[in-house]
Amino acid sequence: MKITVIGGGLAGSEAALQLAQRGFEVDLYEMRPQVSTQAHKTEKLAEFVCSNSLGSLDLTNASGLLKKEMEHLGSNLIKIALENSVPAGNALAIDREGFSQKVTNLIEQNPKINLIRKEIEEIPENTPCIVASGPLTSKKLADNIKKFTGEEHLHFFDAIAPIVEKDSIDFDKAFYASRYDKGEASYINCPMNKEEY
Ligand SMILES: Cc1cc2nc3c(=O)[nH]c(=O)nc-3n(C[C@H](O)[C@H](O)[C@H](O)COP(=O)(O)OP(=O)(O)OC[C@H]3O[C@@H](n4cnc5c(N)ncnc54)[C@H](O)[C@@H]3O)c2cc1C
Repeated sequence: MKITVIGGGLAGSEAALQLAQRGFEVDLYEMRPQVSTQAHKTEKLAEFVCSNSLGSLDLTNASGLLKKEMEHLGSNLIKIALENSVPAGNALAIDREGFSQKVTNLIEQNPKINLIRKEIEEIPENTPCIVASGPLTSKKLADNIKKFTGEEHLHFFDAIAPIVEKDSIDFDKAFYASRYDKGEASYINCPMNKEEY
C-alpha cells in the first residue's frame, strides 16, 4: 500500500521513515525549495526553524520523559538528534545542519520513500494520507484544511528566538554559566536591564 505524507519537516520525516520501516511505500511531498515558508532557510528535510534545543533530558519532567519514550519506541529523529547533540547542560540541543543533513540523506537513500519536491494544495482523496505540514502550512493547503475540518481559523501560538552571531557578543559583559546549575557552563548569558530586554 502507498501512503502520502505532506511535509518533510520533523513530523513528516519521522512518519515517512517509520512507514518505510514497516514495509509501506511512501510518497513524501515537501514544497521547499520551490515554495518556502517565512522561517525555513534551507531545502533540507527536518529543518529546525528556531531554537536548536529539544528541551530538557531530565526524566522528572514531561519533555524529558517524552524524548525517552520516543527513543524506546525507535524514533529515528531522536537517535539522530542524540548523535548530533551539542553541549547544552541538561537539555538536548543539536547541530541543526548536521541533524537535518542526516535526516535528508536517510530519506533520499530509502528505496521505499519517493521524495517529491512539490506543494500540495489539497488533501488527497481516496488514499491514506498524513498531513504534517506544520505551523507554516502553505496558504492554499491551509485553506483546504479549513474547508475539510469546517474550521473558520487555524491557530499557532509561539515566539521566534533570534539567532545571535557569537562574534557580535561583547564578552566583557557576557559570561558562561550552566542552566539551572546543572551540567557544564555552556550557556552564554547576556545580562540586560528591563529597557534593553
Ligand atoms: C517562528 C517559529 C518559531 C518556533 N520556535 C520553536 C522552538 O523554539 N522550539 C520548538 O520546539 N518549536 C518551535 N517552533 C515550532 C516548530 O516549527 C516545531 O517544533 C516543528 O518544526 C514542527 O514540526 P513539523 O514537522 O510539524 O513542522 P515543520 O518542521 O515546519 O515541517 C513542515 C514541512 O511541511 C512543508 N510544507 C508546508 N506546507 C506544505 C505543502 N502545502 N505542501 C508540501 N509541503 C508543505 C514545509 O516546507 C515544512 O518543511 C517554531 C515555529 C515557528 C514557525
